[in-house]
Amino acid sequence: MNELLKKSATEQRKALLNKEISAVELVNATFDRINEVENKVKTFNSLTKDTALKTAKEVDEKIAKGEELPLLAGIPLVLKDNMNLVGSKTTASSKILENFVSPYNATITEKLLNNLVPIVAKANLDEFAMGSSNENSAFSEVHNPWNLNKVPGGSSGGSAASVAACEATLSLGSDTGGSIRLPASFCGIVGMKPTYGRVSRYGLIAFASSLDQIGPFARTVEDAATLLQVISGYDPKDSTSLNVPVEDYTKSLNNDIKGKKIGVIKELMAEGVTDDVKKAIDLAIDTYKQLGAEIVEVSLPTLKYSIGIYYILATAECSSNLARFDGVRYGYRCEGADCLLDMYTKTRAEGFGPEVKRRIMLGTYALSSGYYDAYYKKAQQMRRLVKEDFDRVFEKVDALISPTCPDTAFDLGARAENPLAMYLTDIATISANLAGIPGISIPAGFDKDGMPIGLQILTPQMKEADLFNFSYKFEQANDFYKQVANL
Ligand code: GLN
Repeated sequence: MNELLKKSATEQRKALLNKEISAVELVNATFDRINEVENKVKTFNSLTKDTALKTAKEVDEKIAKGEELPLLAGIPLVLKDNMNLVGSKTTASSKILENFVSPYNATITEKLLNNLVPIVAKANLDEFAMGSSNENSAFSEVHNPWNLNKVPGGSSGGSAASVAACEATLSLGSDTGGSIRLPASFCGIVGMKPTYGRVSRYGLIAFASSLDQIGPFARTVEDAATLLQVISGYDPKDSTSLNVPVEDYTKSLNNDIKGKKIGVIKELMAEGVTDDVKKAIDLAIDTYKQLGAEIVEVSLPTLKYSIGIYYILATAECSSNLARFDGVRYGYRCEGADCLLDMYTKTRAEGFGPEVKRRIMLGTYALSSGYYDAYYKKAQQMRRLVKEDFDRVFEKVDALISPTCPDTAFDLGARAENPLAMYLTDIATISANLAGIPGISIPAGFDKDGMPIGLQILTPQMKEADLFNFSYKFEQANDFYKQVANL
């Protein structure tokens, strides 16, 4: 492998500007790496080499002319395969969209192309982003680059594993209940979910619209901050998008955090957290103390309800969002139906996988008359209490820390037959989506088997700059990011 592929986007940009490598060469080196490891990790649903090379050529022309390069120009990036890139397939890892070709670009895609970022591939995911292990893909499970017998985490497993395997420098994922932060933690990289509304979801296949956010994966905090800056901003095509100016997220990375208050979430350091993960969080606490921050223990009493609330609201919303896949308008249509109703039911029965069907049934049940008040409405009321819990603790602290997951990556197949065990994997991440606040997972050490551990940091809404500041300080004090999976 070309050693430059292990480096950050910041360093790759320097190499491009110093003419040590051209953008076309960088993209070609990335495809060489993909050829080398893709049969082992299975991170991609499709490659978009033509698009990537076309963009890279434009970058080289700009460099040759001495023109200024936009942020991240020439840096190879992967899109999760639930985001539209015109002319390429967007499958959401579902049979029902297996042959669906995007007729338009997502807003994030437009922004990346305007910044001359070469898009090299569409990453595998859990079908319609429903899952925590990337085993729910209709095409293939994804393998963790640190240990091929383990899951990469989900649902953005392909996006995370591709960056960890150096098949790309950057990638994008979507996070509805932890789908960026969990795989980042399992794959030993940085993964960040922005404030709800910070990044446009136009052109993202909707799962649960009141929770979905798009966010960056990278090997360093600085790269993640730069990528967020490129994709953020108001978009009239997404009615939930926030009309607030985008900050320069890299400007305050190295700000002093002396005197800042950091809360450790008590409920997420309790039973179920492994000793290795606890040790990693203790190290984070020590690091922050040494940097002059004050550490306090805080309690979020509603946290124990978050999984229950999420699995009512997320399934209710997905049952509505996925109603559009009926064989009439998009993708797959069954053969030999007797009538319209038969066509709908056969198409959906054949097109959706078992986890997606389970979610649609749960959500339809929670929304049905007679149960709506008992389930959906109650869950909405509880969601408000979760938000109020965060508001209360953020009056006292600037940030919260916890493990991203109580454990490290588990073996492929270990939780596949037990949906409840799988759902519980997200205990630490889901409440940030319910509250709409930003969260990040950064590399924080390794367990006794050498699997990565993630530190989660949360800040109040729109405090992305603080989130990156706290993350960068920990990263620079500990250097875990320098270790790359040996694949
Ligand atoms: N694991 C959670 C689920 O299965 C979250 C998924 C996500 O964030 N997209 O719903």
